[in-house]
Amino acid sequence: MRPAPIYLDHAATTPARAEVLEAMLPWFTTKFGNPSSSHRLGREARAAYDEARERIAACLGAHADEIVFTSGGTESDNLAILGPWSVRRAAGRDAVVTVPTEHKAVLEVAHHVAQAGGTERLVPVDAAGRVRMELLDAALDDRVAVCAVMWINNETGVIQDVPAITALAKARGALVHTDAVQAFGKLPIDVRTLPIDTLALSGHKIGGPKGIGALFLRRGTPYAPLFHGGAQDRGRRPGTENVACAIGLAVAAERTLAEREQEWTRLEALRDTLQRAILARVPDAVIHSGDAARAPHILNLSVPGTDSESLLLALDLAGVCASGGSACQSGSVGASHVLAAMGVPRDLAAGALRLSLGSLTTDADVARVADVFPTLVEKARRLAGAGAF
Ligand SMILES: *Cc1c(COP(=O)(O)O)cnc(C)c1O
Repeated sequence: MRPAPIYLDHAATTPARAEVLEAMLPWFTTKFGNPSSSHRLGREARAAYDEARERIAACLGAHADEIVFTSGGTESDNLAILGPWSVRRAAGRDAVVTVPTEHKAVLEVAHHVAQAGGTERLVPVDAAGRVRMELLDAALDDRVAVCAVMWINNETGVIQDVPAITALAKARGALVHTDAVQAFGKLPIDVRTLPIDTLALSGHKIGGPKGIGALFLRRGTPYAPLFHGGAQDRGRRPGTENVACAIGLAVAAERTLAEREQEWTRLEALRDTLQRAILARVPDAVIHSGDAARAPHILNLSVPGTDSESLLLALDLAGVCASGGSACQSGSVGASHVLAAMGVPRDLAAGALRLSLGSLTTDADVARVADVFPTLVEKARRLAGAGAF
């Protein structure tokens, strides 16, 4: 029998937990009602949907009416920036400030804002990928509608100082958004003590289903919906409610939080073992954001003389699933925009490999990858040298 693949791509997606699936199933079959229907099936679905919203709110320290269900992290980022921007631009605040290491769901929204007649400001990051606070300070004038900085970077794992960024940007009258898709379940998040305005979550990064996410939208935040056509979610995001997935998201969020500290410690030990083993066997490997505060589940490295495609092919042949930069980038050519913004030289960035750990990762997985890594690098160097790509 072929052994199961070793999955080191948890930053791209995670398997749904068994409890999540189990909680969701009846809402596709016997309990299929539309929450907007007034009959018993509708009322039952409405009650379950509202309860899921309350449970997610509780995970963040938010009020239930501050949670908007969306189709995922990408949509939450879009709504969080464009919803407030489209209101505030009329009052002369037409700029969106962000950093070049953001997920495309933020970066391309900022580009869109510029194309739609607003202003986009990208604040440079340091060599580890952290926003340069003195430059952020300079970018935050009275034209800024929204400042968006991702909490944990999905390619490098680097942690931004979101509390400090929030304090600075709020003092300048900007609204503050954070993409917390990778941070939820890793860092403690409590919107009662962190005065952030909006925050994005995604189900499939935390053991929930794909196609569901949440937007925390603080009470009183100026906001215009992007979609029209219904009063669902108080008109902030119309469309028939995805009851099953909302419940799945609530269960995934609660379970993830319950294991947060223990999982951090476990993954950090695994990541450190893997990093040490790789550096011992391939001493010229370069760890990205290695000296910065990093989340424990992401290890991003480059091996000189290889390229990402060759490494990934060699890993895949050995039964290891990993990625170059972000999943979204794997299909496209060109080095990571995140590493480029950190000033990583092009040839090194072209060899980047992201190993991301999570619920499936075991000691045995890490030991196996460490064992095969030198051979894989040799193979990848031959492939790269032969110009296979
Ligand atoms: C995966 C991811 C997203 C996109 O979330 P989807 O639910 O897949 O749309 C956004 N931001 C970060 C940091 C991510 O890792």
